[in-house]
Amino acid sequence: MADPRHDAVTFSTPPRCDVLIIGGGVTGTAIARDLALRGVNAIVAEWRDVASGASGGNHGLLHSGARYVASDREAAVECREEGDILRLTAPHCIEDCGGLFVSVVGDDPDYGESFPALCSAAGITAKEIPVEEALAMEPALSPKLTRAFSVPDGSIDPFRLCLDLMAHATLEADSQLFSHTKITGLEISGRRVVAAKAVHPKLGEFRIEAKQYINAAGAWAGEIAAMAGGTVPLVLSKGTLLVTHDRLATRVINRLRPAGNGDILVPGGTVSVLGTTAVRLGGLDSISPTIAEVEENIREGAPMVPALASTRYIRAFAGVRPLAGSGSEDRAVSRNFSLIDHARPDQGGIENFTTITGGKLTTHRLMAERTSDAVCAKMGVTAPCRTRTALLPAVAASSWTEPGRAARFWLEHHEPENPVLCECELVQKRAIEEIVSSLPETEVSLLQAIGLRSRVGKGPCQGAFCSVRITSALYDADAFTGPEGLYQLTDFLRSRFKGQRPILWGTQLAQAELAEALHCGLYSLEHLSCKGEEHV
Ligand SMILES: Cc1cc2nc3c(=O)[nH]c(=O)nc-3n(C[C@H](O)[C@H](O)[C@H](O)COP(=O)(O)OP(=O)(O)OC[C@H]3O[C@@H](n4cnc5c(N)ncnc54)[C@H](O)[C@@H]3O)c2cc1C
Repeated sequence: MADPRHDAVTFSTPPRCDVLIIGGGVTGTAIARDLALRGVNAIVAEWRDVASGASGGNHGLLHSGARYVASDREAAVECREEGDILRLTAPHCIEDCGGLFVSVVGDDPDYGESFPALCSAAGITAKEIPVEEALAMEPALSPKLTRAFSVPDGSIDPFRLCLDLMAHATLEADSQLFSHTKITGLEISGRRVVAAKAVHPKLGEFRIEAKQYINAAGAWAGEIAAMAGGTVPLVLSKGTLLVTHDRLATRVINRLRPAGNGDILVPGGTVSVLGTTAVRLGGLDSISPTIAEVEENIREGAPMVPALASTRYIRAFAGVRPLAGSGSEDRAVSRNFSLIDHARPDQGGIENFTTITGGKLTTHRLMAERTSDAVCAKMGVTAPCRTRTALLPAVAASSWTEPGRAARFWLEHHEPENPVLCECELVQKRAIEEIVSSLPETEVSLLQAIGLRSRVGKGPCQGAFCSVRITSALYDADAFTGPEGLYQLTDFLRSRFKGQRPILWGTQLAQAELAEALHCGLYSLEHLSCKGEEHV
């Protein structure tokens, strides 16, 4: 049903495209780009905004493959090969920081013994370095270190990546993102899908017509496949991650042991991200991080990096891995992907419907290549895949903070006409204006969209100050004329609070109390009736 807070807008004719892609995560946006580079136009229908599912709820580790050498050599090799391609084709989304695998007193020495040979068999360079050298490289490491290997890990910004993948698809083939567009059904005639039924808070219900339909809905792929009588065998595994208030290490730090909870610390720009847990889910109703998972990550991570026991955490978040396969232990289920042609009689017998799911952020390009090959073959398109070598341009309107920029930035830049609106992450007014002017008229929440396209709200204040400043600037610019700006502000603050709830102790608790005094005590925002269920 359309949200009564939005004016109704409708299409006079159904939007049409060559390919409808359902899901705007890294898989869906990468397929849109791959197809665009072959001259094929697409609509990406995304229920929320790009990278709102697992693609925005992950560690951001550009895997060297070393994590998988003992459990899944095929996945390890795929990660190595795809990582090399991404370093060349999307360098602006990657921090090629390198990684360490380290063991501490008490870890099984056999794993460390077999590690270099397993890496070598997968073609991954793992070089043992003396413990003293590793401690000099990363002073946050435990003094109880027993072994250290350097590996070519990196970190990747999934938000920037997805936004640029989509922007490139628009540039090359006029492909479009329909955000806040939920696909609710597929109209089927004979052995073909003839249209998808969609609903949008401003547009209401409408249809989208395409020649081919791709289900790239990640953990929700089973629901979409069922709309055409297909099934997708998926294990849903929730992982919870924690964000530290500053960056604890320069490199990715991995525990040198079989994959377990809290064993990877990844630098993400100005912060570090610790994770992850693996909890089997029966459904997708609740994907929130829990206090127990937060504590488990810290307990397991601290022996590797002791500061993890005492550092300030600013947020926890969770994502669901759509693991393609089965198994009783989530970490043992393959990280490979599954491409399903629903033309098969046991998959619904629908000729123009394909599902892609599973895999990893690191292997998204390969997943997109294989899916696009299959769908182009159905359409008679013979243009080859170009994403192995084509550079991904940095074209999406966005603003990202450079690590270590803060002090230098304040000294070198003081622009009264372009003030900094987000002081934690140094986002300036002009960057916000550019982001807003890039959004479609049908955008449902300017504040959420700005937050996704920048680091606004992601720093230690978690939106306490910047959200109010930005809302005020948007009112000044007439982007809001009625109370909707206050509704959006309240929704934005609720979404930030969701991630703070399980980490409220110490300094971050004081920060949250200050935010509560401001937002509830001073502005009375808690009296606004909003969509969310959380309290500010
Ligand atoms: C905790 C965790 C940590 C991870 N860490 C890493 C890592 O460090 N490195 C790595 O390489 N990989 C990692 N991964 C894996 C990686 O995040 C995923 O493989 C990848 O993001 C999946 O992308 P996707 O586009 O297939 O799915 P998603 O990103 O989930 O996208 C699916 C989209 O479909 C949309 N959707 C659902 N239903 C509908 C509908 N009816 N209509 C319209 N849209 C719909 C959803 O809103 C969602 O945005 C991790 C995953 C998790 C959960």
